Amino acid sequence: MEGAGRGRPSGVVDSPPVSAVPVEHIDDLQAYAQSVAGCTRCRLAQGRTQVVFGAGNPHAELMFVGEAPGFHEDKQGLPFVGHAGKLLEKLLNGVGLQRSDVYIANVLMCRPPGNRDPQPDEIEACESHLFRQVELIEPTVVATLGNFATKLLSGRPLGITRVHGQEQETTLGGRTVTLYPLYHPAAALYTPAMLKVLESDFARIPELLGRALVPQPEPELALVPAPPAEQLGLF
Ligand code: SF4
Repeated sequence: MEGAGRGRPSGVVDSPPVSAVPVEHIDDLQAYAQSVAGCTRCRLAQGRTQVVFGAGNPHAELMFVGEAPGFHEDKQGLPFVGHAGKLLEKLLNGVGLQRSDVYIANVLMCRPPGNRDPQPDEIEACESHLFRQVELIEPTVVATLGNFATKLLSGRPLGITRVHGQEQETTLGGRTVTLYPLYHPAAALYTPAMLKVLESDFARIPELLGRALVPQPEPELALVPAPPAEQLGLF
C-alpha cells in the first residue's frame, strides 16, 4: 500500500475526511485542538484524563509521531513528558535541535489503559486527527517513533527493527514528506544497544532536513529500570 493518507489496508474503514473539519491554517491548529478535546470516537475516551494533542513548533520542518500518551502525558496533557521525552530532548540536542524546534504528536491522543498497545480500531478512529496535524504543520520530515506510528504512516507492515533509519518518500496530509522510522525512545531507555542505534539514526536527521551535520556528544543518560514486559510493545 502507498503512504498513509493515500491508501489504506484492506478491511480498514475510512474515518470522516479531515478536510471536512471547519478550521483554517495557522490558528487552525489551536482551533483543531479545541475541536478534538472532547473527542469520543473510540473507547479510550472513557478512561483518559484528557486528550493529549500534539505540541511544539507549529511551523516545524521536523515532526515526530509516537505511539500514545502514557501516565504522565495523560496527567499533564502533553506528549513525551516522561523519561522517554527527556531522552528525545537529549537526542535532539545532540543534533543541534531543541524541543521547541519540532512538533511532537502521537498515533493515539488518549491513554490506553495500563499503557497497553493501541488497538486497530482505536488507531483507525484517531488517524484523521494525526493526518490533520500533518496537514497543518506541513513538515518536510516526519520521524515515526516505534512500530505503531511507522506501520500506520508507511502503510506497510514491516516492523521498526527492519526499517529504522531508512527514509522513504511518502504522501501525508496531501504533501510529499520524508518518512524516517526510528526506534521509540521508551524502548531505547532500557536497551543500551538500541540507544546506540537510535543515536546513530538521529545523527542523519540534519542531513534529511538539508542542514549541516552536527557532531553528537556522548550520551549521559542513565538507564532506568524496565517496566513490565506488557508495557513495552514498542518494537
Ligand atoms: S484516542 Fe483519538 S479517536 Fe479515541 S477518543 Fe481519543 S482523540 Fe478520540
